[in-house]
Amino acid sequence: MTAADAKKGKESELAKKRRARTVDRLLAAAHPDAHCELDYSNPLELAVATILSAQCTDVRVNLTTPALFAKYRDAADYADANPEEVEEIIRPTGFYRNKARSIIGLGKALVADHGGALPQGMDELVKLPGIGRKTANVIRGNAFGVPGITVDTHMIRITNRLGLVDGKDPVKLEFQLQKLIEPREWTMFSHRIIFHGRRVCIARKPACGACTLAAHCPSYGEGPTDPAEAAKLLKGDNVDELIRLAGIERAVGA
Ligand code: SF4
Repeated sequence: MTAADAKKGKESELAKKRRARTVDRLLAAAHPDAHCELDYSNPLELAVATILSAQCTDVRVNLTTPALFAKYRDAADYADANPEEVEEIIRPTGFYRNKARSIIGLGKALVADHGGALPQGMDELVKLPGIGRKTANVIRGNAFGVPGITVDTHMIRITNRLGLVDGKDPVKLEFQLQKLIEPREWTMFSHRIIFHGRRVCIARKPACGACTLAAHCPSYGEGPTDPAEAAKLLKGDNVDELIRLAGIERAVGA
């Protein structure tokens, strides 16, 4: 079975699983440094940074959190915080009133119900203010080492383009992907897909002609297939390596 079969909807579940794992291997080679791009030093900081990352770039969050984390060191500090002071610090991340409410609410709930510490269980995490499945998977996968698939905008777009999933409902996608990818790979698969989405399979114009997944992707051609044109769309600090892995050095004169 091939990407063409996937395009025609003829792919068996087993073939799709094999293709998903091939995709994961190729992504691991293309993005060996894939990691959570939010700065944090403990589970609470990661939870707060992830709340702030909604509708905001990780870079901007990372510029904002040092002042926040210096002032509020634990759940009790957030629980007792003055909302206007929190809002002022996190204003650059957008939607700051809602985010301040979530962060302070999170602090209060942690103090009231969890002894000030973040719980590890999915059921407990999603009951906390500001934390849905996406944030819970980020926290579990990165702060607690519990495998999780993070379904964000990049995951939705790319796994649909790859024909690995069907639809845009994040919870359904998470369960569809859990059947395709080995559990021990879930967290890293999420980072790799997000890296790929920021550097290669970009929302508006994917760099298909410079993509190492091209032979396995039924959406190849959604972006430019000319290697030189596609290479210009690549982003990040390992563009030369991405070009080499795609086997297009000659075409782009690299
Ligand atoms: S071939 Fe194009 S659409 Fe498919 S994953 Fe690569 S960049 Fe995205």
